[in-house]
Amino acid sequence: MKPRKIPLRKCVACNEMKPKKSLIRVVRSPEGEVSIDLTGKKSGRGAYLCGQASCFKLAHKNRALDRALKSPVGAEVYEQLARDFLAVEDEFIAERDREEDADE
Ligand SMILES: [Zn+2]
Repeated sequence: MKPRKIPLRKCVACNEMKPKKSLIRVVRSPEGEVSIDLTGKKSGRGAYLCGQASCFKLAHKNRALDRALKSPVGAEVYEQLARDFLAVEDEFIAERDREEDADE
């Protein structure tokens, strides 16, 4: 049996490689709008963050998102993202836990 290949992505905040599924994608659309992409399918330049508020805060502090998205991210965008991030965090963790349960 071949081991299943798990796609890894790097969290731009803590620089750890993690399974894509445990990361939250932030995307900058061609129109320049920065938003959280839970589907992973939005077009544009994406950056990955661990699905936890601490990494989002770290990315804010060290401007990792600005670098990853190659565009300055305004304070109001960070505020909006912080709200969205907290809103999706619980959902995201719940979803992940469900999937882990299903694997057993
Ligand atoms: Zn991280």
